[in-house]
Amino acid sequence: MAGKNIKVLLVEDNPGDVFLLQEFLKEVTTVVVDLIPVEQLSEAINYLAKEIFDVILLDLSLPDSQGLETFVIAHHQAKATPIIVLTGINDETLAIRAMQEGAQDYLVKGQVTGDLLVRSMRYAIERQRADDALRHSEERFRVALKNSPIFVYNQDMELRYTWVYNPPSGLTVEEILGKQDLDIMPGEDAQRLTTIKRGVLTIGIGMREEVSITIKDTTRYYDLTVEPLRNESQAILGVTCASIDISERQAALRERKLAEEKIREQAALLDVTTDAICVRDLNNQIIFWNKGAETLYGWKATEAWGKNATELLFDEPSPEIEAALLQATSKGKWQGELTKLTKMGKEILVASRWTLVCSEQGKPKAILTVDTDITDKKHLEAQLFRAQRLESIGTLASGIAHDLNNILTPILAGAQLLPLKFPDADERTHHLLEILEINARRGADLVKQVLSFARGVEGKRITLQLRHLIVEVAKILKETFPRSIQISTDVLQDLWMVSGDSTQLHQVLMNLCVNARDAMPNGGSLIISAENLLIDENYARMNLEAKEGPYIAITVSDTGVGISKEILDRIFEPFFTTKDVGKGTGLGLSTVLGIIKSHGGFVNVYSELGSGTSFKVYLPAVEGMETITPEELPPQMGHGELILIVDDEVAIQEITKTSLETHNYKTLIANDGIEAIALYAQNRDKISAVLMDIMLPSLDGLTAIRTLQKINPKVRIIATSGLMSDNKLSTVAAVGVNTFLVKPYTVNELLVSLQKVLSGAN
Ligand code: ADP
Ligand code: MG
Repeated sequence: MAGKNIKVLLVEDNPGDVFLLQEFLKEVTTVVVDLIPVEQLSEAINYLAKEIFDVILLDLSLPDSQGLETFVIAHHQAKATPIIVLTGINDETLAIRAMQEGAQDYLVKGQVTGDLLVRSMRYAIERQRADDALRHSEERFRVALKNSPIFVYNQDMELRYTWVYNPPSGLTVEEILGKQDLDIMPGEDAQRLTTIKRGVLTIGIGMREEVSITIKDTTRYYDLTVEPLRNESQAILGVTCASIDISERQAALRERKLAEEKIREQAALLDVTTDAICVRDLNNQIIFWNKGAETLYGWKATEAWGKNATELLFDEPSPEIEAALLQATSKGKWQGELTKLTKMGKEILVASRWTLVCSEQGKPKAILTVDTDITDKKHLEAQLFRAQRLESIGTLASGIAHDLNNILTPILAGAQLLPLKFPDADERTHHLLEILEINARRGADLVKQVLSFARGVEGKRITLQLRHLIVEVAKILKETFPRSIQISTDVLQDLWMVSGDSTQLHQVLMNLCVNARDAMPNGGSLIISAENLLIDENYARMNLEAKEGPYIAITVSDTGVGISKEILDRIFEPFFTTKDVGKGTGLGLSTVLGIIKSHGGFVNVYSELGSGTSFKVYLPAVEGMETITPEELPPQMGHGELILIVDDEVAIQEITKTSLETHNYKTLIANDGIEAIALYAQNRDKISAVLMDIMLPSLDGLTAIRTLQKINPKVRIIATSGLMSDNKLSTVAAVGVNTFLVKPYTVNELLVSLQKVLSGAN
C-alpha cells in the first residue's frame, strides 16, 4: 500500500476527537491518509453515494443516529467498503454485535494511537481486497463450473463436508453440508470414499480413483480427485475434492463387460458341444480348453491351461504336426486326421480342424483347434472296407467260378445222360454215375454259392419300408461325419414298400454317403431323399435298365467336387478309384450296383464338376413283383424244334446238343456271335429259339442278340451266362431276351426255359 494514499471517511461529530485523530495520523510517516470528516450520518451517506473510500471510521453516537443502528445503516450504504467502529463507549456487547454485523474492527477513543489506527485501517483494506479477489476468483470458478458435471467440495479432518459446490443431482448443498459420506450414500460407497480420503489425510498426497456412488437408487460413476487441504503453515485441515461424472464413458466400459459376458456365454455354449475345442497361442501354449476337450482328452481345463499343446497331446512332435502348424500359420487353415493321446495314454483318432485367429490389426495371435473323435467312425469304416474287401474277393472268385461252370456243366450233363444212354449198365456203374452226378452237382452248388456271394444276391427278401432305413442311416452319418457336412433327409411319408435285404440296402446307402463325404473335404450338404415313381413305357424305353411299373427312387446328393465326364463311365467298375491308396478301394459303387441289380433295380448318376453329384437308386416297389422259379415246373419234351446253340466252349456245345437231342429237339451250333448271325440269317424260318452265351469272343452276345432281333424282331432268345454280376445282365434282360439261364444249369432247367420261350409265356 506504500505510495498510495488511503482515502478515509471520518464520521465524527466531536471536533476535538477529529483534531486528535488528524494529529495522530500526521505522526505516521509510512502512509499518507486523506481524511474527510463529516459530522452526521446523513452527510456520510451522501458522500458514500458519490465517492469511493478505502475505509470508513465511524462513531456510533451521532446527532442523527445512535448505537448499532448507525453501523447497520452505514454498512448498508458502504457496501463492500470496510468500516472500523470508533467509539467512546467501551461496551463489549456492542463491539461484538458490530463485529457480527460486519464491522472490520472496534476501536475505543482514548486507547487509540496513530500506529494502531493505521494498522487497523491497513488490515481492513487488505482484508477487503483479499475478500474481493477471492470473490472474483470464486465467481470465475462458478462460471467455469456452471453446467459442468464437476462436484467440488471440502471436508474437514473428520471428513464432514464444509464447503460444497455443484452437488450431484439428487442432493442439495443443504443436505450435504456438515454431513459425512455415510449420511448421504450407501454404506459400501461411503466406506470406499472414506478409505481413499483417510489415506490422503494420513499420507498428505493426493489420489485419483474411479468410484461408483449410488444416490437415491441411481448409480453413477465418478473420476474422483482428492487433495489434502492445508493452511498457510502447510498443516492439513482436511481434503478438497473434485469428482467428475463419467457415467457416459463408463457406459462404454460396461458395454465391454457385456461383450465379455457374451464371450463367456459362448464359451459355455462351446462347452455343450462334444467336439474338443482348444485355443493355443503362437508359442503353442493352451489358453482355452472347453468341456468337450476335458471329456475327450481327460485333462481338466485347469490342468491344460498354459501347457504346451504338443507335449500334452502327442507322444512326440512329428513332422506331420510341424507341417500342419506351418500351413495353419501361412494359409490360415489346416484340416486332417490326427492320432492323439488322452491323459490315460489311450490313442484316439480325431478329425482336426485348425484355424488361425488374428487380432483386430490382422496379426496372427492364436490357433483354434476343433477336434472330433472319429475313432468309432473309423471302426465303422474299417468294417465297411472289410465288407468291400470281401466283395473284391468275391469278384475275383466269380471270375474263377465262371470257368468252373464251363467245366462242371458238361460233367453234370454227362452224369445225367449216361444212365439214359446205358440203361442196362450194372448196378455198380449206375452207382458210380450217381456219385459222379451228386458230386458234380455239389461242385456246381459250391460255385453257385461263390457267385451269389460275389453278386450279393443271397439275401433275405423281406418287405421293407425304406423310410426307417434312411432315418437310421442319417442318424449314423450325423454322429460320424464331420460337422462341416450338413446332413438332411427328405422322405415321402407313404413311401411304397420294397422287397429286399435291409443289411445290403443299408450298405448301399452307406457306400453312397461315404463317397459323398469324401467328395466334400471342405464340408457341404448331403441330402438323402426318397420318393415313389411310376415308370411308364416311355421311360422304360429311354432307360435300358428300367421296366414299366412302380419303383421307389432314393437320391443321395452332395455338393462336392463332382465327377468329370472322362471317369463317369468307369466309376462302377470294381477297383476303380481316384482316391489315395488306403483311402479308396474302388469297390463301393460296384457293390452298390451288385446289390441294387440283385434287387431288380438300377442306378443312375448325375454330376456336375465342381457343384456336386446325385446318385439315384431305383428299386421296384413290392406291388407286381414276380419270381420265375423254373425248378418248380415238370420237365417237358420237345416237338422237333430247331434250336441254335451259341457258345464258344466246345464241351458246352456238345453236352447241350446231346441233352436237347435226347429230349426231341434238333440243334445247330455256332462258336461265336458272327457265326450265330450267319446261321440265323440262313435258317431264320427253321430256328425256333436261340440259346446264347453272352460272354462271347469277337462279337459279344449282346450285339449278336440285337442283330438277331433286327433280322427277326420276334426271335426267341435264352441268354446264358456264368457271370450274374456282369453289368450287362439287366441290359440283356432289357433288350428283349425272353429268359435268362444261369450257368451251370441242369437239363431240366434248360428244358423248362425252352418250353417257356417256345410257348411265348415269358
Ligand atoms: P472308392 O470310394 O473306394 O474310390 P467307389 O466305387 O465308391 O470307390 O467310387 C469310385 C470313384 O467314383 C471314386 O473314387 C470317385 O472318384 C468317384 N465317386 C463316387 N462317388 C462320388 C461322389 N459322390 N462325388 C464325386 N466322385 C465320386
Ligand atoms: Mg467309395
